[in-house]
Amino acid sequence: MDLKTALYERLDRYARIDTQSDDKSAAFPSTAKQLTLARLLAAELKRIGAKKVKLDGHGYVTAELPATVKGKKPVIGLLAHMDTAPDASGKGVRPQLHRAWKGGDIVISRKLGVILNEKNCPELALCRGEDIVTASGDTLLGADDKAGLAIIMTAAEHLIKHPEIPHGVLKIGFTPDEEVGQGVKFFNVKAFGADCAYTFDGDLAGAVEEETFNADAVEIKVQGKSVHPGSAKNAMANASRIAAEIVSSWPENMVPETTSGREGFIMFMDIAGETEKASVSGIVRDHDLKKLKAMERQLEAIVAAKRLKYPLAKIELSFKEQYRNMKGVIAGRPEVMRKLLAAVRRAGLEPRIKPVRGGTDGSRLSFMGLPTPNVFTGGYNYHGRYEWVSLDGMNKSAEVLINLARGWAE
Ligand SMILES: [Zn+2]
Repeated sequence: MDLKTALYERLDRYARIDTQSDDKSAAFPSTAKQLTLARLLAAELKRIGAKKVKLDGHGYVTAELPATVKGKKPVIGLLAHMDTAPDASGKGVRPQLHRAWKGGDIVISRKLGVILNEKNCPELALCRGEDIVTASGDTLLGADDKAGLAIIMTAAEHLIKHPEIPHGVLKIGFTPDEEVGQGVKFFNVKAFGADCAYTFDGDLAGAVEEETFNADAVEIKVQGKSVHPGSAKNAMANASRIAAEIVSSWPENMVPETTSGREGFIMFMDIAGETEKASVSGIVRDHDLKKLKAMERQLEAIVAAKRLKYPLAKIELSFKEQYRNMKGVIAGRPEVMRKLLAAVRRAGLEPRIKPVRGGTDGSRLSFMGLPTPNVFTGGYNYHGRYEWVSLDGMNKSAEVLINLARGWAE
């Protein structure tokens, strides 16, 4: 099956539309420009013959592909997000197609010195001989997740043109604001009406994800006691210094810069302070909820020791739940992963199950009652100028989608 021409045409067209989300915005969607793409996608879904196409007030685009087989089959959701990350510019994206990459440098921009190769991205070596798409040096590409949109749209068009391919009811959902962690905040799982779903969002051909971090936010507040430094002995509690001491007491081997795979961490991000008061905020992450809680106990112990050391200060420590590992939910419905692994194998790939070092829309959806693992789209180096996606990987992803649709109807 070769859908590469259609996939590239769509990726190119979607990528040129600026849909950057904004983590400082209180609006939903966080940026109105995402609606430009939402409207385009809704119109395109109608044009290819999808049914029940809807763009709602929150910017969610939904549609349905009716079943081609008789009898009751599970309803499967197919999801991708429309926004791109705030980390790099998404304005004026000009995709470039580097056909049949033979190894060596892929020049994204000679002028800006943005050169992609196996040295700065060893994962590229897995895609020798494939067609590689990049941006042009001054923006991200936005294949995260416009590759996912292109894959779902192209596979849907293929399924509509080929009613002889057996499948049950398929629901399509395009969502805003994934990159700012709000993507499914207002998503109506019940109205969507799927029994399970798959996000098509990121990573190299063969990768599937059923596991995310457990995530809490941490906040430390120090109330100090300000006294003239000349007479501060045994009278001052310097909140800034106490906050800094807590941060530096956290083990260096439990921070993002020194951990990978299944190792968890605490990252202290915003630190603000003066003598009178200081505050520190950060995040706690681990795939294992017990280990996450153990890290929090460890930080509590550090804070307790500082309270003893600095009796004149008042130190508060609090944690707030952000999201939870979706594996627990997905494991409760084993056929969701079983069907996915079979679909990947049917596309001639060996599935690689990877724990995500982050969250996905799927983790939140899973806890909203819709088990939603993630499927690769064939790309890498997201959120920056070195982002790339393999058209062949996208083609495999579309094939997996069609196999999934077929597999659930069998
Ligand atoms: Zn994404």
